[in-house]
Amino acid sequence: MNEIEKKADIIIIGGGVNGCSLAYQLAKKGKKVVLCERNYICSGATGRCGAGIRQQWSTRENTELSIKSIKIFEKLEKELGQDIGLRQGGYLIIVHNNKDMIQAEKNVKMQKELGLDVSILTPDEILDVVSILDIEGMKAIGATFCPTDGHVDPFKTTHAYAKAAERQGAKLYKFTNVTDIKTKNKRIDCVVTNRGKIKTNIVINAAGAWSKQIAEKLNIKLPNKPFRKEILVTERVKPVFKAMVISFKDGIYFSQQDEGQILGGIPIPNEISGYLTNPTFDFLNHMSKTLTRYSPKLKYVNVIRQWTGYYDVTPDARPILGEVDEIKGFIQCNGFSGHGFMLSPMVTKILTDYITDGKSSDILEKLLIKRFKDKEITHETSVVG
Ligand SMILES: Cc1cc2nc3c(=O)[nH]c(=O)nc-3n(C[C@H](O)[C@H](O)[C@H](O)COP(=O)(O)OP(=O)(O)OC[C@H]3O[C@@H](n4cnc5c(N)ncnc54)[C@H](O)[C@@H]3O)c2cc1C
Repeated sequence: MNEIEKKADIIIIGGGVNGCSLAYQLAKKGKKVVLCERNYICSGATGRCGAGIRQQWSTRENTELSIKSIKIFEKLEKELGQDIGLRQGGYLIIVHNNKDMIQAEKNVKMQKELGLDVSILTPDEILDVVSILDIEGMKAIGATFCPTDGHVDPFKTTHAYAKAAERQGAKLYKFTNVTDIKTKNKRIDCVVTNRGKIKTNIVINAAGAWSKQIAEKLNIKLPNKPFRKEILVTERVKPVFKAMVISFKDGIYFSQQDEGQILGGIPIPNEISGYLTNPTFDFLNHMSKTLTRYSPKLKYVNVIRQWTGYYDVTPDARPILGEVDEIKGFIQCNGFSGHGFMLSPMVTKILTDYITDGKSSDILEKLLIKRFKDKEITHETSVVG
């Protein structure tokens, strides 16, 4: 392996979508950036995710972040000079009872105030969007639908960011494990890796489900917990729908790829936190039964593969961003709780503005780790998987 740099303005830990997007944006602003990834680019949650992108959330912060992120995704292919596989077929969120409809109406009102094109559909209108659904099987009384939600290819996007970052002068070191972080006078001093030390005053912790361990090296306790999440893909069948179908009550999400495969996931009941990697029969069983209840026509479609990845889950299902109070220059970009791909464009822009211009924002202030000291925290309730 080649010698590594001895000094950098900023060191990013983690070569997922967030780390690579940060590397690109910070290098573009003239910073000397080093990214350390202990495996290969996309080896964490990014390379295992569904990569659905939606703007329909219950909290203002997530809604605002995702509306702005999708606007960035829409221009990203041009900016990075590479296809990112963006497809906007909408998200159809199934509502099953009157209580959940009240929450859905509240969400839609807030989303519309933020300028989102979103509407509430009747059961008949649901079938206009995805004709193979079974209204009775799903026990649906309606749905919400946003046509500009969709899907992006996580590999194409992350590698496009990585290549663009390198063109801007960033160094992306694969198979480079961060083993320690040293401080001097409560300020970041250097990062220790299996390939040597790198001096720096700024470290960004974008290590996904391993961010907690990174923070522990500096005696900072993150409340994040890793959860195994499973996902499957079927054989190709004739493409018949474009929207992502999801249900907060059942936890299921599924969509059809342009090539015809159905891709989707669901949480298995009573999953406990931990670094488990084995795929389970419980998942396959639960997913198949729920999926074919939603669409009996899919009964004859074969599953060809299932795999696992981790959600990095915070107590309020919202990310942890920004600098910690205890150590100058230690910046968090983690805790995405299963929606870190879709929020990445805006989250990394906010952090880049903070690092390069010292510019904070309302959203950044609300997502600092210190919010967990407050008596009441605002939970994101629109979550699946
Ligand atoms: C099954 C599944 C489905 C999902 N579906 C969606 C979806 O539809 N939409 C969505 O927006 N999100 C989804 N997510 C969540 C999404 O994948 C993540 O939130 C997002 O990819 C996080 O990206 P990241 O760059 O922050 O972290 P990661 O991609 O996890 O990258 C972190 C990297 O840090 C590296 N690392 C860890 N420790 C060290 C160390 N000591 N030194 C060096 N490197 C280190 C790891 O190897 C890893 O590559 C899903 C996740 C899963 C598992």
